[in-house]
This record gives sequence, structure tokens and C-alpha cells, in this order.
Amino acid sequence: MPGVPKNTKTENERKLNFWERLYLPEIFKGLAYSFRKMVKEPTYTTEYPDELWEPPDSYRGRPVLVEEEGKPRCVSCNLCAKACPPMAISMQSREVEDPNSSKEREPAWFEINMLRCIYCGFCEEVCPEEAIVMSKEYDLTFQGRDEAIFGMDRLLVPSERLTERLDYLEEARNQQENAEPWQHRKDNNLHSLRDRHIVRELSETQMPALKNTHLRSEKPIADKNTWKGRSSSDDV
Ligand code: SF4
Ligand code: SF4
Repeated sequence: MPGVPKNTKTENERKLNFWERLYLPEIFKGLAYSFRKMVKEPTYTTEYPDELWEPPDSYRGRPVLVEEEGKPRCVSCNLCAKACPPMAISMQSREVEDPNSSKEREPAWFEINMLRCIYCGFCEEVCPEEAIVMSKEYDLTFQGRDEAIFGMDRLLVPSERLTERLDYLEEARNQQENAEPWQHRKDNNLHSLRDRHIVRELSETQMPALKNTHLRSEKPIADKNTWKGRSSSDDV
């Protein structure tokens, strides 16, 4: 019947001897066993936060943007934001006006809401430029919700500090047998509109519609002089 204690003693149960019934010798035997293990066994734990854990290269810590020569490698294609399951990434593109730049576009601002990020690595997976990668940083604390929105100032990390992850990605992507060896090349993913003079010529001769679709004249919306994250008051 439910709620009524049931006696589970059986006929064949071993009888405790005198010392076992005292319990104390058994307790000391247990303590001696623990003490032996404390002295002899290697330590598997660390004294966090005084002693920090160094994760392996395959670890997925917070996502960061790769910075090269003081600028983000990102071409602002928006793929990572589309792939991000919790929609943690937002960005605003702007055109690169430097004619010598290999990039057509770059992010005017780029933000990751770290309260939403689930460290899935999809952004890293889809990025055609290896411009966003998972770092080894796992020790994140915030004092408010606004602090958890990381802008470019906190996302950009020089590529020299990310070589372990970048090398790991190259190795992991080269594990398919009989496949072409994969290697990130900066010139692989240049935006087709880099050759704007061709578009201009085409728009003047054969395809006038390109003027409206590919030769935008309006200025980028966001402030192009800062890499800072967007403030919550911006209505972009
Ligand atoms: S790791 Fe996943 S959740 Fe975090 S920003 Fe990248 S895609 Fe989004
Ligand atoms: S997928 Fe890569 S290149 Fe495209 S916007 Fe994201 S970080 Fe930039």
C-alpha cells in the first residue's frame, strides 16, 4: 500500500559483526581510503579562477572577428547572421571607398548579443572569409544586459592571436580523403562588385538597369569613422 514503510530484510542477509555494528572502524577505513587517494592520485581539477583552464584548439568559446592590419576581415555578407539560430548577430554594411582595397564592403558596425549566443559555431562554419571564429574565451561575466552586447571594439581580435584556431580549422577541413586540400586564401572570396568599372561600363552601354541595382550613390547609414557597436538608441 502506498505510504506504508516496507521491511526489505531478507533471510539470507549477512549479519554484521561486533566491529561493524560499532560503525566507527568502517568510518575510519573510509577516511583512510580517501586520504590515500588524495595523496597518490593525480589532480583532475583546477583551482578556478586562480588557475585557468587552457581549452584545446577545437574548443568553441565566444565568437570573435578576425582583425587583419587593423581592419576586420569580414566582408559584411550577412551569412553568419542568417545562419545564427538564436539571431544573436546583427550588422550594418557599408561600401569600401578605397579603390585599392580588395573588399567591396565591410561592416560599419557588427554586434553579437552574448546573452543569446549558444556557442554553436554555425557562424564560423558558414563564413566564406574565415572572418569570424570561435575563440578559447569562456570566462564571460556581465553586470547588465547592455554589457552583454559585444560591438566591434570587443569582437575584433588580431589574427596573430587566433592562429591556433585558424590552423585547427584548416586541419579539420582537410580530413576528407581524396578531396582537394583546403586552404584559406584571402583572394578567394572577393566580392564581384570589386570591378566596379566593368559594372559602370555595362550600365552605360548594355544594361542601364545596373545603375539602380549595382551602382548605389547614397551614403552608408552608419558612421563610418568608428568601429564601435551600435547604441541601443540608434534606429538603423
Ligand atoms: S556561435 Fe552560434 S549562436 Fe553564437 S553567434 Fe555564432 S551562430 Fe550565433
Ligand atoms: S559570414 Fe563572415 S564575412 Fe560574412 S558577415 Fe559574417 S563574419 Fe562577415
